[in-house]
Amino acid sequence: MRQSILFTKTRREAPKDEVSKNAILLTRAGFIHKEFAGVYSFLPLGLLVLKKIENIIRREMNILGGQEVELTALQDEDVWNKTGRWSDEVIDVWFKTKLKSGSDVGLAPTHEEPLTQLLSEYISSYRDLPLSVYQFQTKFRNELRSKSGILRGREFLMKDLYSFSRNEEEHDKFYEKVKSAYRSIFNQVGIGDSTYLTKASGGSFSKYSHEFQTIIEAGEDTIYITLEDKKEATNKEIEESNGRKEEKAIEVGNIFSLGTRFSEDLGLVFTDEAGVKNPVIMGSYGIGLSRLMGTVVEVLSDEKGIVWPKEIAPFQVHLLLLSEKAKDFADEVYKTLSSQGVEVLYDDRDLRAGEKFADADLIGIPMQIIIGEKAIESKMLEVKERKTGETKHETLDHIIEALKK
Ligand code: ATP
Ligand code: MG
Repeated sequence: MRQSILFTKTRREAPKDEVSKNAILLTRAGFIHKEFAGVYSFLPLGLLVLKKIENIIRREMNILGGQEVELTALQDEDVWNKTGRWSDEVIDVWFKTKLKSGSDVGLAPTHEEPLTQLLSEYISSYRDLPLSVYQFQTKFRNELRSKSGILRGREFLMKDLYSFSRNEEEHDKFYEKVKSAYRSIFNQVGIGDSTYLTKASGGSFSKYSHEFQTIIEAGEDTIYITLEDKKEATNKEIEESNGRKEEKAIEVGNIFSLGTRFSEDLGLVFTDEAGVKNPVIMGSYGIGLSRLMGTVVEVLSDEKGIVWPKEIAPFQVHLLLLSEKAKDFADEVYKTLSSQGVEVLYDDRDLRAGEKFADADLIGIPMQIIIGEKAIESKMLEVKERKTGETKHETLDHIIEALKK
């Protein structure tokens, strides 16, 4: 993509009303746009990152055997009354509105109820199980606090996976598999080293749930590390720390055993091999994609801006043209890279070199290729790694080869 046609512009100054690092950097770099507190739009660069995160997660969900769906945001009051969760006292973040007819509808904060009800029309026998279903879906939560940028949105994108098993053993096996899938996802998006599998309260369904908590200064939770090498921790909400090291952290994912809490109320039952009817054993497993994107920014940025890991960077290469004299040469490099399937943001704008460098460091694409007049003759391109600032000179063929690895 040519940066001259990208409609977003970088900003030197942070928006006055933003206090969180993720929102300040992502807004300045043109990834997101704030509509009002806790409500953000994703702009071209931001959407590219979000889609890459989505694809990493989708791959892992498909390996688990998950079937992708997309349920509705609009929710029927009756379904939620069956579990008692329509009440604002039970779910305190509901957004509710009315149809023209006067009946109440809600905007889904999560999807256990509608999915369980839906599956009760399709599942009847032990042969229909086990099963897992997931989606990438916009959730609505009327959060009290919304000062954390995209870490806590009132409208946000979540991946939610639900599992349906015949017995505890089958459920536990799947639950363990999700743990590994989540570990792999957080490694791939570049926050594996600072993300801990954290024992947390299980609600009324089981003794514990597990959260994946990433250490960041702005974290709203407190965890203490129990096993550093295995990246395990405990949430302070369930146990005092006994002198262990405490850290501020943010919950990037959550896995939860639900037992028969929803299947019983919503009539999701199956007939077993002996002909006996049993409620299905369920689990739910969430990851906030926008929160994850914000967390990566919180963890990996430096004083100059964002540092995307290559797996989720909006582009692989940021090509910077520094001299109008080298324009034809840089155009050629851009064409060659693009034809080789390399994702390139090409800064072809008529700006001073200093401004281009500052923008490139702010936007955070992992590899910068800098083209000045010298390159026309030497055919050696200056390659700068965003993370370390290290530079070297390479031929285009060499660069393409390395990128394809
Ligand atoms: P928190 O305790 O931070 O409010 P939660 O426990 O209510 O989160 P879950 O219901 O477990 O969240 O949702 C699953 C995942 O969705 C969370 O692990 C988190 O990654 C993400 N998430 C939850 N609330 C938000 C929000 N307001 N904005 C962005 N992501 C969110
Ligand atoms: Mg949670």
